[in-house]
Amino acid sequence: MNKKPRQESATTRDIVVLVIFFFSTFAYLTYIDAFELIVDFVHRHESWQLDELLTSIALIGFGGFVFGARRYGEARSELRKRRSAEADVSWLAHYDPLTELPNRRRLNDFVREFDHSVEANGHHAVFSIDLDGFKKVNDLHGHAAGDRLLTVVSERLVKIFPADLVVRLGGDEFVVIARSHRGMDVSKIAKRIATEIRVPIDIDRIKVEVGASIGVVTYPDQSTSMEDALGCSDIAMYSAKKQASTHVALFHPDMRDEFRKKAELEMQFRSALSADAIEPYYQPLVDLQSNEIYGFEVLARWTLPSGEQVPPTDFIPLAEEFGLISEMSEQLLRKACRDAQRWPEHILLSFNLSPVQIADRLIVLRIINILNETGFEPARLEVEITESAMILDPEAAQFVLDGLQTLGIRVALDDFGTGYSSLSQMSKFKFNRLKIDKGFVHDFENDEKQKIIVKAIIALGVGLNVAITAEGIEEPSQLAALKLLGCNSGQGFLLGRPMTADHATQLLSGPVKPSILSTRASEPRPGQSGARAAVRSP
Ligand code: C2E
Ligand code: CA
Ligand code: CA
Repeated sequence: MNKKPRQESATTRDIVVLVIFFFSTFAYLTYIDAFELIVDFVHRHESWQLDELLTSIALIGFGGFVFGARRYGEARSELRKRRSAEADVSWLAHYDPLTELPNRRRLNDFVREFDHSVEANGHHAVFSIDLDGFKKVNDLHGHAAGDRLLTVVSERLVKIFPADLVVRLGGDEFVVIARSHRGMDVSKIAKRIATEIRVPIDIDRIKVEVGASIGVVTYPDQSTSMEDALGCSDIAMYSAKKQASTHVALFHPDMRDEFRKKAELEMQFRSALSADAIEPYYQPLVDLQSNEIYGFEVLARWTLPSGEQVPPTDFIPLAEEFGLISEMSEQLLRKACRDAQRWPEHILLSFNLSPVQIADRLIVLRIINILNETGFEPARLEVEITESAMILDPEAAQFVLDGLQTLGIRVALDDFGTGYSSLSQMSKFKFNRLKIDKGFVHDFENDEKQKIIVKAIIALGVGLNVAITAEGIEEPSQLAALKLLGCNSGQGFLLGRPMTADHATQLLSGPVKPSILSTRASEPRPGQSGARAAVRSP
């Protein structure tokens, strides 16, 4: 079912017609003794010089025949080329040139015809397959290696399903529609696909490995039509992606509900975005030496019309998945810059960029456009990038970092300690700040090892001349201990919860307040003035 179709020829038909014509005319002329009749006629009318005339006609006829045969040959060759080009265009429209597998369009045709064909009475299993780690192979080893990998994976699938429909949907996604029979263990087959795909592939003497997430559904047991089956196997595949161990999921009706909820959330999120309803909240960033607020971290907040708050840890991944993160981020930054224009000039804005945005080559341009539009100083903006974003695509991260820092925008490495960045990476990238992840701050007082790590991070910051901010400070004792270790700045519920722009404005313009920073646990250092402006959220 997966091979390129051969083009048919019309030559045979033409030859048959010509041969029939030739033999029937020849037979008739022989039958009436045509040659003798002509000779006799020429002899009888010698004076007409018919012999010369006939010789000329014969010569002209021969010449005409040669000319005609040559033109006919040319016309046939042209026709052949045209037919071949048409066949190629039609093949390209229905097959993937790289793997030679049927493509999405061919699958759509199959689905359209399926319900009216005898196949609809049979039993089928539909497998949706998505490769895991393909992008990494492409990025690390180049596109030629990626192409080779896709070809090998396709060959393996065709080997497992030689008589079934194996489709490359595009990118690293495949679908298999296999004839099954009752009692067939489809999950076992799915596991076999996963195992076969995982076998390392030799590309230019380098062993390359990818995994696969596989969703399976059966027809007609679990789905009502082939179109429905494809939708269900796709839903199951997304569920398989979330399963840590096997990456294989058999479709279950509950998955449909989950998917529906997600689709509903997507719709709500889209309308929230178009209504400009994602709001920036601001969490104080406090200088632990002067005890003053030096800036605010912008945190996205989404409240549903019902009043329910959706946490950013839920909707940010959705925005990334739906390709809406860039739009959301631009709206937030624009609002934040306008809000911050009301604040004293030394107050920084710290803004989160998601790993997906790091891959956006236009991100620096987008940011600078908003700064120009709102008149916000680049030197007042700090961009937070997580360690995982740096690991995912170091080249893109370097590009973004360079672009931002050239414009005078500062860059902070967020959630430091939770990713996998090595010290060599730290030396390669130039940061202005490290933000110690709240996980360390939470435990370090009672955990000697965590304390050593926090101490080492602070020493690293001092050594690299990079500011250090401890996140998630909730207890006065944590604050005191961090100060003793020489941490420059902090953030956390103790110092201020995320708040609206108006509350932040009030906080900045309000009178000096007795704060947690002036308590015994956080005595100002000798020679320093008392605490100011670090408060709990209103
Ligand atoms: P993050 O960048 O690490 O932001 C700090 C998170 O820690 C915030 O959670 C904040 O409310 C919370 N936090 C602050 N102090 C404390 C504390 O003392 N204790 C505890 N337990 N938590 C504290 P939030 O607002 O829920 O945001 C969660 C994550 O969502 C953020 O982590 C960030 O990764 C992401 N996020 C939020 N807003 C945005 C945004 O506008 N863009 C992007 N790309 N990501 C965002
Ligand atoms: Ca952050
Ligand atoms: Ca963080």
